[in-house]
Amino acid sequence: MNDHKPICYQYNANRYCPVCAEDDFGRDSSGHITGVDSDGNEVTPLFSWDEWWEPGDATKQTLVCGNGGCELMLDSIDLRTDADRLADSQRAQPGDGWSENPSRFTTDLTGIRETL
Ligand SMILES: [Zn+2]
Repeated sequence: MNDHKPICYQYNANRYCPVCAEDDFGRDSSGHITGVDSDGNEVTPLFSWDEWWEPGDATKQTLVCGNGGCELMLDSIDLRTDADRLADSQRAQPGDGWSENPSRFTTDLTGIRETL
């Protein structure tokens, strides 16, 4: 038995988790996900020892399923140097409008009256 299952599959110029790949292509009689994508390229399994990241890009990189309804995180790698990591942790949080006042979330009970 081979326990080294692919972490994802490459097709349609993107990468997809095994669940989405199986949805798209099914499994052959050997239990493998195989097929040909819309570009005519074979579906290629990617293993944990395969290099999926950008080696020249010294950032924290994540491998996420390319299916917009799934976006399962498949793997991640941190190629930053210790100096980069320190600089990132000291950087101020970006004000991106996410910090809306949570007190605006109120329950509206004015329509409910106690009936006897
Ligand atoms: Zn997926």
